[in-house]
Order: sequence, then structure tokens, then C-alpha cells
Amino acid sequence: MMERMSTDDAATKLDAADPLAAFAERFHPMHDDVIYLDGNSLGRPPLDVQAAVDNLTHREWPHDLIRGWDRWINLPGDVGDLLARTVLGARPGETLVADSTSVNLYKLAAAALAAAPAERRVLVTDDDNFPTDRYILQGIAEAAGGRLRLIHTDIDAGVTVDAVADAVGPDTALVCLSHVAYRSGALADMAAVTDIVQRAGALMLWDLCHSVGVVDVDLTGCNVDLAVGCSYKYLNAGPGAPAFLYVRSDLQERLRQPIWGWFSQTDQFAMDAEYRPQAGIGRFAVGTPPVMGLVAVEAAVRLIGEAGIDAIRDKSRLMVHHATRLAERHLVPLGFELASPLDPQRRGGHLTLRHERAWQISQAMRDAAVIPDYREPQRIRLGFAPLYNSYADIETAVDRMVDIVARGRHLDYPAEATGVT
Ligand SMILES: *Cc1c(COP(=O)(O)O)cnc(C)c1O
Repeated sequence: MMERMSTDDAATKLDAADPLAAFAERFHPMHDDVIYLDGNSLGRPPLDVQAAVDNLTHREWPHDLIRGWDRWINLPGDVGDLLARTVLGARPGETLVADSTSVNLYKLAAAALAAAPAERRVLVTDDDNFPTDRYILQGIAEAAGGRLRLIHTDIDAGVTVDAVADAVGPDTALVCLSHVAYRSGALADMAAVTDIVQRAGALMLWDLCHSVGVVDVDLTGCNVDLAVGCSYKYLNAGPGAPAFLYVRSDLQERLRQPIWGWFSQTDQFAMDAEYRPQAGIGRFAVGTPPVMGLVAVEAAVRLIGEAGIDAIRDKSRLMVHHATRLAERHLVPLGFELASPLDPQRRGGHLTLRHERAWQISQAMRDAAVIPDYREPQRIRLGFAPLYNSYADIETAVDRMVDIVARGRHLDYPAEATGVT
């Protein structure tokens, strides 16, 4: 007979001592007691976000109509500043909420390459970076007569400082990396990597999609040049909510983004013939801001601020640690391998497990009321959202995974991955 985890009361104790436990009630309740471990792809809806969208659609928009723009027009910069002080460690006037991560990455990377001296034509990223980052950099290099250099990264260990040092030199314009690797959850050394890139005379662009809202980020302390990230993962602002971009203040004047939209123009409503980009972070805007999404981001970031990013990071570390211990004890004997860094200092908010039947297991988990996330090749990601997941969630999820694999219940599911994974 298999050892059952119900004898282990560690989760009960951890939940009882959890200073963030009450925040779970600030979210729309889960239907049918499903355990949601995919907040690293799409966070659950906070009640405050629902209320903010409801307020816009039922009160501000119908009542104010066009007059609402007097206020709404300031949201991209104001919500950017809120994000900066709540989770990014950035100063006011350096962050804008706009567009998608992909578009913001394009704007900032193209601006960096255009501002670099003629001998610096190389863009650097790693072969394990998120696909949109690699594709966009490839497209910019091709369009602007540059070259893309790919660092080879172990997909479970993450990018190393030494590998970055080897890849940069007098030909490099920009290095773009993910702060937390989307597949393994490996956390890059932001301070050391940024320093190496800058010593080589290049700019550093961090993609914060998998760290913002769960890992404490210190853009000013690390003297980061550029950053982008989304708001729908650990920030919980909703599907397709707008992303953000960050440009350190002393760089803003030097950079010109490639999409010359009217929202980046000096004295926008003068409707001038000539394009003259604004001074400041506003020059990285493009067109009409998505107000419905912006009010959602504002409410979502306020909730994170109430909990405090340090408390969130502390719980996140403990959750990943607890899950790692349970996985080593109960899942490794069933053919799983840990596919995240073992060093707690080098991990973000999720734990990745490799199993040759990971796709089938992830489908069986959904039917057992646990929603994980599947990533090629053969990996299940367990994402822990400190604001609404409990330690008991982790224990139950592992318990059900053991049950599925020990009884071979996953073998009833199709072996080929299909649809949105
Ligand atoms: C989720 C994610 C994105 C998503 O970009 P979109 O433009 O919102 O589709 C980009 N980069 C990383 C690292 C991500 O994790």
C-alpha cells in the first residue's frame, strides 16, 4: 500500500501560520472545488478587478462618455507609476502600461538597436527564451540589418552569468532575457547579468512576465536599462489585459521607438504635420489606451500592494520548497524528475516536473479537479499563486498525481498534445 500524505500535517501548520491566507477570499470563488495551479499563465479574477471593470462599464463610460477621457488619458502613466512602486522597484515616470508584451518588446528592442553605434549590430538572447521574444528579436535583426546571437541554455537550469559574459562584446547592441524562465522557473541573476551587459557597452532588456507580482524586482537597484512584462499572470488583471514597459529615465531622451503613433506626439491634439516625440516615458506610447484593461490592472496591482510583494515572495518560496519536498518523496519514485533549479535562490514561483507521459497525466489531473499547465517537452508546471493558493492545495494536488500515476489512470488519455497548451 502506498504511503498517503494525509498523515503529513505540515500543510495544515503552514496554512495556519500563513499571513496571506485571508487574501483567497478576495478572489472570485472557484467552481466545484477545483484546485487551480496555473496562475503563472492566467491569474484568477480578484473581486476588486471585477468591481473596477463593472464600475467602468456601468457608471464611468455611460455617464461620462467622451468627457471621461480627461481622466482616462492619464491612466497609462499613473498605473505605470503604481506598478513601479508596488512591484518593480522603479521610480515615477519610468513605466507605462500599454499594448502587449510582444509589442512593447518590439518597440524597446528596435529603439535600442536604432540608438546603438554602427559597429554594434548584434542582439543577444538565449535559445530557451520565450518564443515571442526570440521571434521579435529575429524580425528586428532582419529588418534593421542586425544579427541575432543565441546563448545555449540548459532548459531546466536556466541562463548563467558566465554564458552571458561569453556572448557579449564590442559588437553587441542589446541583450534580452527572461528574468524567470517560463518553462523551468529558473530565476536569472538580474544584478550580475545587467552589470556584465553594461560593462560590454550594451543595453539590457529584461522580460518580467514570469516574475512580476511573485518575485521581488528591483529595477533601480540593479540599474536596469529596459524591461517589459504582462499583467495577466501573477498580477491577475485578466485575459489579454495590457502589458507594461519600463525605460530608465536617463535613457528616455536617447531612444526613439519605431511606431510613431499620435499618443507619443508632443502636444498630441495640435494635430501637427511633423512628428516630435514627447519627452519622458510618454514617447513610448502608440495609440488610444485600453481603458477597460487599465482599470483592471490598477485594481489588480493595488491588491498586490495590500499584501506586499515581500510577503508574497516569502510565501512563494515556501510553497515551491514544500512542493519540491513532496515531489521528491512521492513523485520521483513514480518516474517524475524535477525540472526546476534545486537552489531556492535561483527559483521563481512555479515548479516543473518532467515525466515521459506528462501530457496524459496533465489531462487526467484536470479530470481529477487539479488544473496544472503543460509545456513541451514532457513537462508539467505547477504554478503557485501566493494570494489564493494554500499549502493544502499543493498537498492535495500531489496526492491526486500519485493516485493517477500509481493506478495508471493517465493511460486512458490521448498521448498526443492538441489545442491550447
Ligand atoms: C507570457 C509571456 C509573454 C506573452 O507575451 P504576449 O505579448 O502577452 O503574448 C511574453 N514573454 C514571456 C517570457 C512570457 O512568459
